[in-house]
Amino acid sequence: MKDSGRKQGGAASPCAACKLLRRRCAEDCLFAPYFPAEEPHKFASVHKVFGASNVNKMLQELPEHQRGDAVSSMVYEANARVRDPVYGCVGAISSLQQQIDALQAELALAQAEVVHLRMRQLSSNADNPSPSTKGRRSHHHQPKSLFNMDMSTEHDNNMDDPFWP
Ligand SMILES: [Zn+2]
Repeated sequence: MKDSGRKQGGAASPCAACKLLRRRCAEDCLFAPYFPAEEPHKFASVHKVFGASNVNKMLQELPEHQRGDAVSSMVYEANARVRDPVYGCVGAISSLQQQIDALQAELALAQAEVVHLRMRQLSSNADNPSPSTKGRRSHHHQPKSLFNMDMSTEHDNNMDDPFWP
């Protein structure tokens, strides 16, 4: 058995497609570049789902530079159909779509929460326009210290008296 490259005439080892179809792999075999003998499962699933003649037809209708992508797509679709005979790759697409919907809803909730927190921060800043000048003391007796701040010009020495009228 010869195992030289397939470009050296018809005697070379057949591509995966020709091997499965039990035919001679011609030098200009349409399948050979995309279905190498080392990956027999690729053609097997594509043949099972689409049929070899349909694959052949689709490849012939395409310009050569698009055939590789078309084969990847067909292999992907065929494998999905084998895994999930009812939905095929539509099953994968719709489950990804559901994930997108769920994540978008989650994102919208998070964005709404951000807006809500910003509004709250803005309104609390509006209540206390200069939080940095309130000083440490105000932390424990906030009502009193606000009161003191208002009156501090008249009663500078009584700031800490809790019974200050
Ligand atoms: Zn071939």
